[in-house]
Amino acid sequence: MNREVAIKKLSNPEYDWDIIVIGGGATGLGTAVDAASRGFKTLLLEKHDFAKGTSSRSTKLVHGGVRYLAQGDISLVLEALKERGLMMQNAPHLVQNQKFVIPNYRWWGGPFYTIGLKMYDMMAGKLGLGPSEHISKEEVMKIIPNLVEEDLHGGVVYHDGKFDDSRLAINLAQTIFDHGGYAINYCGVTGLVKDKQGLVTGLHCIDSETGESYIIKAKAIVNATGVFVDSILKMDDPDCKKTVVPSQGIHILLNRDFIKGDTSIMIPNTSDGRVLFAIPWHNKVVVGTTDTLMKEAIEEPLALKEEIDFILNTAADYLAKSPKREDVLSVFAGLRPLAAPEDDDQETKEISRSHKIIISLSGLITIIGGKWTTYRQMGEDSINKAILLAGLPERPCITNSLPIHGFRKNVDFKDHLYVYGSDMNKIQVIISKNPELKQKIHPNLPYIKAEIVWAARTEMARTVEDFLARRTRALFLDAKTSRAMANDVAKIMALELGRDDKWIKDQLKAFSNLSAGYLLSDKEVI
Ligand SMILES: Cc1cc2nc3c(=O)[nH]c(=O)nc-3n(C[C@H](O)[C@H](O)[C@H](O)COP(=O)(O)OP(=O)(O)OC[C@H]3O[C@@H](n4cnc5c(N)ncnc54)[C@H](O)[C@@H]3O)c2cc1C
Repeated sequence: MNREVAIKKLSNPEYDWDIIVIGGGATGLGTAVDAASRGFKTLLLEKHDFAKGTSSRSTKLVHGGVRYLAQGDISLVLEALKERGLMMQNAPHLVQNQKFVIPNYRWWGGPFYTIGLKMYDMMAGKLGLGPSEHISKEEVMKIIPNLVEEDLHGGVVYHDGKFDDSRLAINLAQTIFDHGGYAINYCGVTGLVKDKQGLVTGLHCIDSETGESYIIKAKAIVNATGVFVDSILKMDDPDCKKTVVPSQGIHILLNRDFIKGDTSIMIPNTSDGRVLFAIPWHNKVVVGTTDTLMKEAIEEPLALKEEIDFILNTAADYLAKSPKREDVLSVFAGLRPLAAPEDDDQETKEISRSHKIIISLSGLITIIGGKWTTYRQMGEDSINKAILLAGLPERPCITNSLPIHGFRKNVDFKDHLYVYGSDMNKIQVIISKNPELKQKIHPNLPYIKAEIVWAARTEMARTVEDFLARRTRALFLDAKTSRAMANDVAKIMALELGRDDKWIKDQLKAFSNLSAGYLLSDKEVI
């Protein structure tokens, strides 16, 4: 996964790619993995970094969606439960079986949720992660001792998956290369090329590191740019209708003393009619989310004060130790790319999370909606359409059982290096050549210096933000600590990438500005 080698592939304007995918989030990466693994000449272009958009900002669930079951969206739940099982099977180093408890504070809640979750288990079939069951108040308090005990009647235990979203994105990018394809970050698409009949035959893109622009040819182009799909559709037809509405969801990170033990909490029916999750993740607790309709999509969305208050207040109703603003280690916001409803009055939480494929008259394929959990199916559906449209040879999809890069069973989830799966040993090789790289970057988080070298050399990390936000999760886990790590990260990356002091200075400034949005206090400075 070498950026310089990949960029060189762009310099031949006569090279005819079978499939170009625009957008390096879950949807685009899944689509490019599908195309490359079917043996098509595949290129993915990402304007920023892989998973910079929504795909690093999820709740970290690999799930069928208990909420969608309650809404009666059975086909989505069935599809997502199947995909949950496949994700765990194909990336066992990143997807974990997670136990959840729904605490019941109403006497009727027990039977209601027990029956619903039995259905959920049944729908997962062979790919089920474990049976759900009703448990007593005493058992609930034993597994989650920090819950509010007053009025608690009991609880229901069920299972879903949990993962590290941006790490899976990086592994998917590596999988594209493993199958002969290419993926390039910091290379945005700026226009489409059409023939005399108005059919799309290629595109323009710019390498934002050098400013160099390229025109490249492709038989099929898939627009997988999440909340930004309309900007690509406008390149095709300036008068096109809006297809996506961005709905913002935020999360806060707390220390583990707010939830002891390994079980997650699911609160159904909060005051805004959604569900709230509190999930142990990388030795912290992630709590969210909200659903706020936004006017426009931006690259770095910011949590609103009312969203933060809503999460803190709802969590305080259930947790014995009420979290306060000063307990928040980091806050992050993401935008759901929801298919625009026909009816303007429909509430965002009611819009289906199913995906939708749009074929433009020009032959441009656009995929919208969906969930991280269903990324593989979305990729398969897009490439099936591309084969038909571009007259590519029929080749069956193989991603059902395709191991994702890093595939390794029985990893030790207590060792923070587990996210590298089968690459973990290669990080040990870096350390054996330079034992100083075994040092932690900061005492508050487990990350070591060898990971910086690894990310710059083999995972296409190009900036301090790439390393602190998506190769590791420092920014998301503890924003203040990530700021204190930035200097060491910049220096080691500069050595690896051959950058000068000015680059280091610029990177530190850029990271300081960006990370301010993840802190609740604006008094923090590097
Ligand atoms: C708050 C929240 C919680 C969620 N939780 C879950 C969950 O727990 N489980 C789950 O399954 N799903 C969850 N989802 C849904 C899931 O995260 C999204 O469906 C998924 O990440 C969307 O991926 P995407 O690739 O479509 O979009 P994105 O990840 O946004 O990717 C689009 C990419 O396109 C790039 N791009 C834009 N314009 C251009 C251009 N001109 N050229 C090249 N590239 C371009 C962007 O930079 C971006 O990286 C959640 C979503 C939100 C918002």
